[in-house]
Amino acid sequence: MSLAQQYTLAQAISQSGVGLHSGEITTVKILPATRGGRHFVRVDLPECPIITASCESVRSTTLSTELGNSDSASIRTVEHLLSALTAGGVSHARIEVNGPELPLLDGSAKPWSEAIAAAGLKEIEPQPSAPLNQEISVRQGDAFVMAIPSTETRFTYGIDFEVAAIGNQWHSWSPDEQNFITEIAPARTFTLASQIEALQKAGLIKGGSLDNAIVCSHSGWINPPLRFANEPARHKILDLVGDLSLLGTIPLAHYLAYKAGHHLHVELVRRISQTPTNSNV
Ligand SMILES: [Zn+2]
Repeated sequence: MSLAQQYTLAQAISQSGVGLHSGEITTVKILPATRGGRHFVRVDLPECPIITASCESVRSTTLSTELGNSDSASIRTVEHLLSALTAGGVSHARIEVNGPELPLLDGSAKPWSEAIAAAGLKEIEPQPSAPLNQEISVRQGDAFVMAIPSTETRFTYGIDFEVAAIGNQWHSWSPDEQNFITEIAPARTFTLASQIEALQKAGLIKGGSLDNAIVCSHSGWINPPLRFANEPARHKILDLVGDLSLLGTIPLAHYLAYKAGHHLHVELVRRISQTPTNSNV
């Protein structure tokens, strides 16, 4: 499926679960919408504030992507659901959440992608998507993300970790050639055992467990089996697609990233959105 097509869900879907960082259990209800892009509604707050999934809404990129509006309503860890919606062709949806963070589910986008596929799609009037007309890149040290003009949309990601079980690994995915649901969505969040204590001390990952992330130590994976030999690199593509979805429509390009994360992903989104012909929001 082309990422430029415009659809909404044919019927509502719902999922509940614990948020990775807050540890709070929330329920998400995704309803069909014909306008407004992908937007979150905090139904637990007075007057149900709306938070649009756009780069202007980004509040934090520490460990996950957090969006907010001008009234300080926010929603955290949006990237996996946004990735599943975007790859599933859902360009407009009303995403109602009754708390501050989306549930992590199994740490992947698979439960979202399967629910979207089961609900089916309804076409909305298509909007033309401009291809990327120039190379745009952002970097920090030896990490970078770039968008390269191309005739096909493709995402290529490399990571390099000292722990041998991860090491240097790459993945390249084209939405036109390979199915998101089988190739990218199942790849789970990964973390290093050595970082868990520091994250917990910082008040983060209160909802983290061996059920919603794969954890790696110097002697290997703590909770195997992996779903793919290069599951971490595939998960980085999942995150990248979710963050690029903040553009509204992802321009036709080859997106190439190395050792990057949410911060650099969102910087690239800002740069692309500031390039006149590539603003599709
Ligand atoms: Zn992720």
